[in-house]
Amino acid sequence: MRSFEYVRATEVSDAVRLVSARPDAAYLAGGTTQLDLMKDGVLGPGMLVDITRLPLAGTERRGEALHVGALTTMEELAADPTVAERLPLVREALLKGASTQLRNMATIGGNLLQRTRCRYFRDPDVPKCNKRLPGSGCAAVEGVPRMHAVLGANERCIALHASDLAVPLVALDAVVHIQGPTGERRILLRDFYLLASESPDVENHLVHGELITGVEIPLLPAGALSGYLKVRDRMSYEFALTSAAVALVISDGIIHEARIGLGGVGSRPWRALDAERELVGSPPGTEAFRRAARVAVQDAWTLPGTAFKVELAQRCLVRELRTVSGVAA
Ligand code: FAD
Ligand code: SF4
Repeated sequence: MRSFEYVRATEVSDAVRLVSARPDAAYLAGGTTQLDLMKDGVLGPGMLVDITRLPLAGTERRGEALHVGALTTMEELAADPTVAERLPLVREALLKGASTQLRNMATIGGNLLQRTRCRYFRDPDVPKCNKRLPGSGCAAVEGVPRMHAVLGANERCIALHASDLAVPLVALDAVVHIQGPTGERRILLRDFYLLASESPDVENHLVHGELITGVEIPLLPAGALSGYLKVRDRMSYEFALTSAAVALVISDGIIHEARIGLGGVGSRPWRALDAERELVGSPPGTEAFRRAARVAVQDAWTLPGTAFKVELAQRCLVRELRTVSGVAA
C-alpha cells in the first residue's frame, strides 16, 4: 500500500475544503471499501480525510420522511424503530447485506458509494478495465462474468452496483443530501448513478470533494406491503445474484401503488418503472406479476455467463410480489 497523509476532520466544512483542495484526496468513513481497495493497490490516494467524527450520525423523523445521517451505520439504521415500522424492506435489505461486524463499521453514505465487486476491477494486474484505466477494454466481457450486470451494461463495462440498501432506496424515491465547497444540493438517488454502459469510469454525479451528508427516505403509507428478497450463492455473507425490493398498496382487490427496485442485475440500483406501471390498476395475481417481471428485464444485455440472470431476476421478482401480496403459487 502506498503511504498517504491522514487527517481527521471534525467540521463538515473543513472536510469538504480539505478534499476539494486536493485531487488525490479521498474521504474515509467505515473504511470497509476504501481500505480494501487501497490494500489491493486499486486506489492510492495521497490524503485520506477521516469523516467518522463529523456530526452526521443518527436518524430523525421529519413528517412523512426519515432523515438518515450519512455516518449512521447499517446496523444502526436496521435497528431504527421507524424503519422497522414504516420501511421494512429497507431493514430487510440492510440485514441481508455483509456481516454483523461489517454492518457495525459500514456507513450509509459509504454503502451508497461502494465500488463494484468486479474481480477484474479489483486486480490491478489485469490490464483491461475501462473503469480503472479508461479506454483499456473490459476483461470481464472476455472473461468469466457472473457477479455482473445485464441492465445498463454493454461491451464497454458490465460492472454491477452491489449495494443491497440502494435497491429499496431507489424504489422509495430517496433523496441524497450533498455538501460541496459552494453549498448544498439534493438529488434523487435514482438519478444519482450513471450507467456503466455510458461512463464506466464515472459512477455518479458527485463532483470531487462533495460530501454526502444524509439521505431522506419517504415513508411508505401505513398499510403498504413490502419486502426484500435476495438470491445468492450461499445464504449469508454473500452479494446478490439478483434481488427485488417491492412495495405495494392494495385496496378493494386492486394494486393502487407499486414500487419495484432490482439488485444484482443493474450497473446501477435498478428502478423498474415500466413494471410498476404494468401492475397499477390490476388485481394482484401471478399473471400480472409475470407480465411485470418480463417488462422489468426486457432491455437486458447478456453474455453467455450472465444470461441466466434474466430468468432468475424474473422469478425473484414474481416470488417477492407473491410473498408481500399473499398470492399463492
Ligand atoms: P468507506 O469504505 O469508508 O468509503 C467507501 C467510499 O465512499 C470511498 O470512496 C469513500 O471515499 C466514499 N465515502 C464514504 N462516505 C462518504 C460520504 N459521506 N460522502 C462522500 N464520499 C464518501 N454491501 C452490501 O450492500 N451488501 C452486501 O452483501 C455486502 N457484503 C460485503 C462483504 C464484504 C466482505 C465487504 C468488505 C463489504 C460488503 N458490502 C456489502 C459492502 C459494504 O456495505 C460497504 O463496503 C460499506 O457499506 C461501505 O461503507 P464504509 O462506511 O465502510 O465506506
Ligand atoms: Fe472493468 Fe467494468 Fe470490465 Fe469489470 S466490467 S473489468 S469494472 S470495465
